[in-house]
Order: sequence, then C-alpha cells, then structure tokens
Amino acid sequence: MNLSSSNLTTWLPDLVYTNGRFHSKLALVCDDAAQIVRVDSQAENAIPLNGRALLPGLINAHSHAFQRVIRGRTEYRTANNKDSFWTWREMMYSAAARLTPEDVYDASRMAFLEMALSGITAVGEFHYLHHAPDGSAYDDPNLLAKEVVRAARDVGLRIALLRVAYARSGYETEANPQQLRFIEKDPEAYLKNVEQLGSDLGRGSSPTIREGSPFSQIDGALPHGRASAWDSAMAWTGIAPHSVRAVPLNYLKEIVNVAKQRQLPVHMHVAEQPAEVSACIEEYGRSPVALLETEGLLSERFTGVHLIHVSPKAVRMLADARAMVCACPTTERNLGDGIVPVDGFFKQGVRVALGTDSHVQIDLLEDARELEYHLRLQKMERAVLGSVNDEGQSALAARLFNCATVSGAESINAPGGSLEPGRAADFFTVDLNDPSIAGASPDDLLSSIVFSLSKTAVRDVVVGGKRIVEDGRHAQQEEIVERFKALQKKLWNE
Ligand SMILES: [Zn+2]
Repeated sequence: MNLSSSNLTTWLPDLVYTNGRFHSKLALVCDDAAQIVRVDSQAENAIPLNGRALLPGLINAHSHAFQRVIRGRTEYRTANNKDSFWTWREMMYSAAARLTPEDVYDASRMAFLEMALSGITAVGEFHYLHHAPDGSAYDDPNLLAKEVVRAARDVGLRIALLRVAYARSGYETEANPQQLRFIEKDPEAYLKNVEQLGSDLGRGSSPTIREGSPFSQIDGALPHGRASAWDSAMAWTGIAPHSVRAVPLNYLKEIVNVAKQRQLPVHMHVAEQPAEVSACIEEYGRSPVALLETEGLLSERFTGVHLIHVSPKAVRMLADARAMVCACPTTERNLGDGIVPVDGFFKQGVRVALGTDSHVQIDLLEDARELEYHLRLQKMERAVLGSVNDEGQSALAARLFNCATVSGAESINAPGGSLEPGRAADFFTVDLNDPSIAGASPDDLLSSIVFSLSKTAVRDVVVGGKRIVEDGRHAQQEEIVERFKALQKKLWNE
C-alpha cells in the first residue's frame, strides 16, 4: 500500500517518550489506519502541541465499571466485629442488584470518561453482570456486556470485554441471592455466550498483531499493515473465570482450554484474600496458584489479578509459565487486601500490569506509584523496586510506567502501549507548565510524572488517531456527568 503524505497525521509536542526516554524535536507520524508510521524529526504540516510532552496511552487492565456508583458510599464502619473486603462486597452487591441496562451504560460511561481524562486509552473490563435482577436471562444474554462496550465506544476508549464465568458462591457455600445476576451454571452456556459476543463485536478474538506475541496466531486477526487493522480493534473479548472460589475445577479447565484453542486472554482474580486461599486448600489440597499450575492452566496469556497472598514458590510457578500479574493498589489499599509482592515478581521476571478495579480512584499513575510506595512502608526503605545497576535516574519510574503501558497492553492484548512504528496511535499529553511537574528536566520528567503528576495536567488524549480529550476536556463531558448524577440520585434516593 502506498500512502501519500495527505493520509498522514503528524503530532509535534515539545517532548516525546519513546525507547525509554524523552526526546525533543521529534514528531509522531500516523497513517489513516491510526497506526504509528514513524517517530522522527520531519514534521511537515504538524499539529503543534506546544508546551506538552507526549506519552503512550495508559492501559487499565482491570476494571469493574459499574462499581463507580458506590464510590464514597462504603467508607464507614458497619459491623460490630470489623469491616473488611467481605462487608464491602455485600454493599457492592446491593448496588449491582439494582442497575438497569441503561444504568449500566451510564455508570460505565462515567468511569470511562474519568479514565479518558486521566490518560487511559484502553481498558480490560472484567464484566460479571449478565442477567436481570431476578436471575432470568435477557433476550440477548450479552445485553449488559454490550451496554458496557457501547459506553466505551461512545467515550472513545478501546475495550477488552473480559466476560466473566461465575458458577457458584463458593466451595460448600450456599447460593447467595445477591449473585443471581452473575451465575452461568454450566460452561457450555458460558462459552456459547462468549462466542456470540465475539462475533457480535465484529471479531471473535483479540486484535494484537505484534510479532512474537502469544496472541499473534489469532483467527481473523488482520495481517500487519492492513488499513483498518487498528480502527476495527476497538472492542474484543477475553475469557475471565471469576476466581477458584466461584468456578469449580472442571468448568475452569473447560473454558481455559477453549481460550487456549482460540488464543484469547484469560483473566482471573487470584489470591486477593487469605480466606480464598484457605478455601482452595480445603477443597483441592493446593493453593490457588499451585492448583492452576498443576492443572496446566497457567500460560503467557494468563493474567492473575491481585496475587497478594502468594508464596515465593507460587511466584516461581507464575514466572516459569510466563503468566502475568495485574495489581490494583488503589483498590487493594481501600479494601485492606494487603500488598502485592511486586519486588518478588520483578526479581523472577514476572510482568506486572495495573488496574483501577473498584474505581475508588481512577488514576493509573497513582496505582503505578503505589506499587513502590506500599513496599517502602512495609520495608522502611526507599527505591525498593530500583536497582543499583540502573542507568539514569528515571529507571525506577520507567519500570513503573512500563506496568501502566507495555505490560497492560500485553495483558489485555491491546494494540497500544508504546510509541513505535507499527503500534496504534494511542497516546496522551501532559502540560509541562502544570504546577505538579513544572521545572522538570527531560531526564527527570518521567520520575516527576510517575510520582507527582496531577490528573489535571493531562491535556490531549488520542485513541486510534482520534482526539477524544482536547485541552483537558471531553466533548460529551457535561452530558455524561449529568446523566451519572441523575443515576446516583435514583439509586440512592437523594
Ligand atoms: Zn476485580
């Protein structure tokens, strides 16, 4: 294909983050298929981004968009004994039970708007609301999943709809009526619905065409360089067994096997709470990670979300399988889950992605810095995730930023993550005069951004070559916020 220059769009900021550092006088050149063609000094007819630094879009690998409705409504003591993840979960369930399809759309659009405004360009939505409140199926069993996808499309984000399998309340646990909307009792029904969703989204699997990617042999993936490769990759599916608690082993094996055949991403909550680990040992005589490993369910397409309560041996199992971790520190600190042992994961070469999960905050750079800060508080040291062999003072920041970009893209199989020829034109800019980062030199700018950036410094957000946030505002911002305020009023009788 011969592209004339009229098909190219060129963006010229003061600084571009590529190949691990900021460069000045470089322009980002993209084709009309929203793919980066080159990053170089030729900048004819460029769109100027004066006073701004341009970075690859952040990838949010774990979200439950509807949980945005309970923000600020669970921060008080309810139990005489103690409040915990489990008491919070009951409150979350009571909100989940009341949402109509339109409410799911409005709540999701609010969460995705906030993501866009903070520099996020793709999201992995761990979606488990499937049925009507009484547990009966909608005419379209993917109605609610499609409402979430519609919300992402209307905001302009890419979305991996990680469709959740949820079969039971737990091992030898009575059914919880608050989980009726989640349950698909047999794997056949679940797989049929995933299949249908994939084809309704226009593609049964994920879009990555990165060379060497575990996803590169996907049926229907468009060959490298074809126009529309990226713009048609706005929504795709993945397999998401909720947890070892909610999905029994036979079911789990069957759906992970299909994910293997279809080369789909597999996401699963693993070892978020000690009670989940002890119940797994009681049922199977093995910890969750040991169960997954011995049953051959770990792979480089597998992402375990949280992985907090794990032994060094489990960390090695994940490393040997090239499996990934998705940490969600802002949620984990809010729920009192514990600290993800990222130092152990990094030591073994395990890739770590990040998620905003419950949306108590939507600020993926806060999640990135918390990876390091939680360990500082625990160990009473600084720069825990740094290395004495690091070259340059931004090496630690680069490692954390990588979690929020490259690893996130690998985890959910998104086409962005880095600014290189052949990758998607998904990026954001920050205002170099914002008080939170003003005065940084190119060498310490990444550390300033990772450790100190205020979200208000985000100016432009571009997804698939399309500017969805301009000068810090989204075109539908007022309408999305008004609709969400009305939803909150309705839900909470205010
Ligand atoms: Zn989660």
